Amino acid sequence: MTSEAGTEAAPAAAPEGGTAPPAEDGATFADLGLRPELLAALARLGYEEPTPIQREAVPPMVEGRDLLGQAATGTGKTAAYALPVLQRLPDDRPGGDPLALVLVPTRELCIQVSEALHRYGRDLGARVVPVYGGQPIPRQLRALEAGVDVVVATPGRALDLLQRGSLHLGGVATVVLDEADEMLDMGFAEDLEALLEEVPEERQTVLFSATMPRRLDAMARRHLRDPLRIQVAREVPVEGEAPRVRQTAFVVARAAKPAALGRVLDVESPTAAIVFCRTRDEVDDLTETLNGRGYRAEALHGGMSQEQRDRVMNRLRGGTAELLVATDVAARGLDVEQLTHVVNYDVPAAAETYVHRIGRVGRAGREGVAITLVEPRAHRMLKTIERVTGAPIHVERVPTVADLRARRLELTRAALRESLLGDDLERFRSVVDSLTDEFDVVEVALAAVKLAHEATTGPDDDEEIPEVTLRPERPRRDGDRGDRGDRGQGRPPRARSAGGDTERLFIGAGRSAGVRPGDLVGAIAGETELRGRDVGAIEIAERFSLVEVPAAAAEDVITALRGSTIKGRKVTVRRERPR
Ligand code: AMP
Repeated sequence: MTSEAGTEAAPAAAPEGGTAPPAEDGATFADLGLRPELLAALARLGYEEPTPIQREAVPPMVEGRDLLGQAATGTGKTAAYALPVLQRLPDDRPGGDPLALVLVPTRELCIQVSEALHRYGRDLGARVVPVYGGQPIPRQLRALEAGVDVVVATPGRALDLLQRGSLHLGGVATVVLDEADEMLDMGFAEDLEALLEEVPEERQTVLFSATMPRRLDAMARRHLRDPLRIQVAREVPVEGEAPRVRQTAFVVARAAKPAALGRVLDVESPTAAIVFCRTRDEVDDLTETLNGRGYRAEALHGGMSQEQRDRVMNRLRGGTAELLVATDVAARGLDVEQLTHVVNYDVPAAAETYVHRIGRVGRAGREGVAITLVEPRAHRMLKTIERVTGAPIHVERVPTVADLRARRLELTRAALRESLLGDDLERFRSVVDSLTDEFDVVEVALAAVKLAHEATTGPDDDEEIPEVTLRPERPRRDGDRGDRGDRGQGRPPRARSAGGDTERLFIGAGRSAGVRPGDLVGAIAGETELRGRDVGAIEIAERFSLVEVPAAAAEDVITALRGSTIKGRKVTVRRERPR
């Protein structure tokens, strides 16, 4: 059965803790049958309603079904599996061995997922342990020995701990493979097979992946039992006339987002804008930040009373506020004439949400503007949205300090021109006349422009926002060979030349130490910011290996690998040719 997210479901009750209008398009978290401890955690985090993938995935997972979910980062997929995993933990858990195992490709995701599980499972007393390559093993051993409910692990490290007899998988009732396509890309196929062999057969198996290459589908067919298939963001164009909206996206690191938003707003100078956030907390934080930066921003979320909400709307309509910072739930049904801009502070969790949001501008023949801030990891969702809306989203550079200054001068020039055309200027003539005895008339004009400029634009903001670029799309790999075909042959997973400048690194362990390409790719991706596909050609000789990495990252890779182990051993790592 193929289930499609975003389809209209039964009308839902108003979200708890507020008087926001009822959800139009589906169930609340309570409707998903989650236990009170989890509902309390979600309310605390300010999640107002489930995302489409959560609506689709949670109930069947809670029932124990196997599931194959196609969903990218940004859709809320982590909570989609984390909540059922926690829900299924028995209250009475005397044993110390894990009941659930979550496998993820990288250290970064390992930490992120275990933090999410920890936050959602706090009231259940869930014990969550992350284990990943690079962290000292003794610490992980101690954590496992102390007793654990959910282990979140990178495959290489999980296998290592299993082989040492420190990770016991005999009690595992649910296995989740997250970002499974990435794990295969990184050469973890064999490790995954070995781990799945060790988990009891009657377990629940859940696999999430942004893409579904043939090789992964084959693996799912071997290990999942009658899985429910869920696909978020089906690529069907939205019906009806597309609004006239200029769509732009800016790629920014999370930490730089408030500054980037400020910069974009300064350049765009909207008459009235809505900035959409995911959670109540985000709405409150961002409103405070924007007010601190001199904008007139108002918060609107489901935790507010009707009276508070009405006050906010009146301030926006009357022009006292220029920005509304809102969650989707709170902004539902909202119609503001003056609205010129819609800003997505994050890429929305579903293409349909994006379409609803931007439908608020570009009405009655006026051009509206939709702006999306994209964290590099969420770029895939942006592509999906682009396909669904059928209109290009232009990815632009965040305006620089120089752009902003130029824009501000342009605004001052426009204001002066307006004044020259319309205002009664005669009463200032005596000031100019008296000054021209002493100064050139152009100098007088310059001083007047300076005063006008400073009075209207405020202080210059000279914080430069770091530029981030999108990772290129993964090439289509329809020609992938079957997984079984390359097991045990040690074929380098990505033995291609990485584009751009590369450097070869010498690693003092090779075939005789049992090193396989996947170990090296896994160690590099687990220890550094690089991803599996950034690693170039790999050669494995008897006593050493050579790995090609982007030159800009070589130093990082050397430092990281020197601080960690490969196949459980410390090894020499250096440039093949010293500089
Ligand atoms: P993910 O796609 O799992 O990487 O999640 C993306 C982000 O959305 C994370 O920061 C989550 O904390 C957040 N998130 C997940 N589910 C919800 C929800 N139902 N409401 C608001 N935020 C959410």
